[in-house]
Amino acid sequence: MSSSTLITNIATLVTNDPSLGNGTPLGLVRDAAVVIDGDRIGWTGGTSKAPATDNRVDAGGRTVLPGFVDSHSHLLFAGDRTEEFAARMSGRPYTAGGIRTTVAATRAATDAELEAHLTRYLSEALRQGTTTMETKSGYGLTVADESRALALAARHTDEVTYLGAHVVAPEYADDPAAYVDLVTGEMLDACAPHARWIDVFCERGAFDGDQARAILTAGRARGLHPRVHANQLSYGPGVQLAVELDAAAADHCTHLTDADVDALAHSRTVATLLPGAEFSTRAAWPDARRLLDAGATVALSTDCNPGSSFTSSVPFCVALAVRDMGMTPDEAVWAATAGGAAALRRTDVGRLTPGARADLTLLDAPSHVHLAYRPGVPLVAGVWRRGVRVV
Ligand SMILES: [Zn+2]
Repeated sequence: MSSSTLITNIATLVTNDPSLGNGTPLGLVRDAAVVIDGDRIGWTGGTSKAPATDNRVDAGGRTVLPGFVDSHSHLLFAGDRTEEFAARMSGRPYTAGGIRTTVAATRAATDAELEAHLTRYLSEALRQGTTTMETKSGYGLTVADESRALALAARHTDEVTYLGAHVVAPEYADDPAAYVDLVTGEMLDACAPHARWIDVFCERGAFDGDQARAILTAGRARGLHPRVHANQLSYGPGVQLAVELDAAAADHCTHLTDADVDALAHSRTVATLLPGAEFSTRAAWPDARRLLDAGATVALSTDCNPGSSFTSSVPFCVALAVRDMGMTPDEAVWAATAGGAAALRRTDVGRLTPGARADLTLLDAPSHVHLAYRPGVPLVAGVWRRGVRVV
């Protein structure tokens, strides 16, 4: 029989259940307690009404919120791109070749090396409060390298995305159509068993709207659900395509027309903003306020990857979103928890209500607002995943 644990004396509890507490989307409960029953949340409410349990943890007047749900990362890689980052930040011209550098290093790495990298960044994220993390292939770009990356990822997370269509593989530079055939044919056959999602980088220099549609449609026919790298570097067809195909998320959304915003607002497709990328490439921020005011669902994720956003820190992204993208602290925390869950079409994570997975983060702060108010400070004092304290 599994045991129950009461976490009590919580100054601020973020449940993401609007029917609780103050009636806002975060469902804030003050002076609260949570019961963990096995791997699930058994009960939430005021400390004085807490039921008896086997074990008891005193939160000491701190904050408990759902573990972060990071719905966009690229952790299957090898190699290092410090020089490229330093050059970019020094104002020296950046000569393309970035992704290709990582592709060469990733192909040369052993399975053990790739898996060690993956687990290193997953545990780094866990220490910062991330209890669900999606990750993608996309640095192999051969049948064997893409499928091994996904097989390795599937050992460590349920949220695995096939991104053979990250860029055209260097071997196919002169014949991108043949590469699309590979991605939708033999590579898809090898990768589909290991993945839940299919993704494509729909951007000038990567894949155009027609190619992206062909790739996502082929994936869908194999049981993979679409998500799209859309409108990151320029205006383009990615967002409209994501909505048309009922993709779970359109990721980046930095360059949006009014029609793009409107399409997102009237769809189930979540707009996932990845401010680590704009930070690390010194690019213009996505306009979260515009999306929220239109009624779109917004998620925040790290985009952790060695080239354009080498951070695994959701709290850092929350701080950026509040400081520079027009989100309130409440909206940013919601986007990093419930928003990420929506972007992965999950209802069992991203909230702390009875029946949800017992994924909780304890912050050494009196409220969740400190995530933005105290940027760069390691506030995460404890993490439970599936009811087990792991940090
Ligand atoms: Zn990405």
